Amino acid sequence: MFIKELELINFRNYLNLKIEFLKGLNVLYGQNAQGKTNVLEAINFISTLKSHRTSKDRELIKWGKSKAYIKANLNKSLGDFTVEVLISEMSKKEAKLNGIKLSRASEVIGNANTVIFSPEDLRLLKDGPDIRRRFIDNELNQIKPRYNYYLSLYNKVLLERNNLIKKGIDKSLLDVYDQQLAEYGSFLIFNRIEFIKKLSIICKLLHRKITNGNEELVIKYKGDIIDGELKSIKERLYSLYKNSIEEDIKKGYTSKGPQRDDIEVFINGVDAKHYASQGQQRTAALSLKLSEIEIIKGETGEYPILLLDDVMSELDLQRQKYLLDSLMDVQIILTITSLNDLEKFSINRKRIFEVSNGN
Ligand code: ATP
Ligand code: MG
Repeated sequence: MFIKELELINFRNYLNLKIEFLKGLNVLYGQNAQGKTNVLEAINFISTLKSHRTSKDRELIKWGKSKAYIKANLNKSLGDFTVEVLISEMSKKEAKLNGIKLSRASEVIGNANTVIFSPEDLRLLKDGPDIRRRFIDNELNQIKPRYNYYLSLYNKVLLERNNLIKKGIDKSLLDVYDQQLAEYGSFLIFNRIEFIKKLSIICKLLHRKITNGNEELVIKYKGDIIDGELKSIKERLYSLYKNSIEEDIKKGYTSKGPQRDDIEVFINGVDAKHYASQGQQRTAALSLKLSEIEIIKGETGEYPILLLDDVMSELDLQRQKYLLDSLMDVQIILTITSLNDLEKFSINRKRIFEVSNGN
């Protein structure tokens, strides 16, 4: 898949922008704070309906305006399609697919697929579990149509259960919440486990290649429930909520469930979070992100658009080369602050955009 054209109106620091991308490599270069990342953010937004750097949609609307609009013309092997998203201060997001308004904006998720890689992702192994859960959830949002829906239902009920725990327990209401959480949560856990199984196979092979066979990478899902069929996960999860209520009341929140789960990564048999060097951790993060590309290709039949935000300068030359030279069939949109870095690569077709103050 690739994006042919992007139009932005009142999005971040863009008043009105139209750009045409190339199927191959697209480079956005310019000084700091000009609007390079804003373009990647917009492209990522039409695929996930989320920003990779804020949970507040109103931050995406240009200061002093009340609505932001993103339109993208894209191409898949089946043909061209358009996605439009309207973000508004006063009302819910709206989305259109091929000019037709969708009843829920979230139905647009999964039409355009992207993988975004920014410097924060290089800390995927080092940071707390939130970033790794977000990594799995973002991926599953794109490839499993109901995943996003179940995740938001789960989070909503979780919030209500936590409020109930703090306010004082109403046993029958608590049981309703526990049943709902078990229903939605088992869907999340089941899909995450399946995803990690696929990810671990692809990632192991990729990581071997990137490290010239020196490192074996193993990924495992970490949580109270890490295997089983949907039905059995649901039953076990329900019991977990039931049995942990005393502990939950003491702590003041729901202590069990997929909201606490994590991924564990081992390099040559050793826990990478605690023992791997910074370079090893970054390379493993790169392998994880690149595996995302292969998984999306496997699930949808199309390569996603790869958005690389400022990561080149954070990687050594060998890893940079690997990124740009090994992904021949993937459309890449890349931000950098200096064009000098590009001369080292054997790229035939590229288009370069200079980004300056929202232009
Ligand atoms: P860097 O090289 O530092 O990463 P960049 O070119 O990626 O820079 P962006 O993150 O795209 O820069 O941001 C460009 C500018 O957009 C910033 O100066 C910021 O002040 C501005 N900006 C952010 N949000 C809004 C908004 N809602 N309305 C107007 N301007 C905004
Ligand atoms: Mg930036």
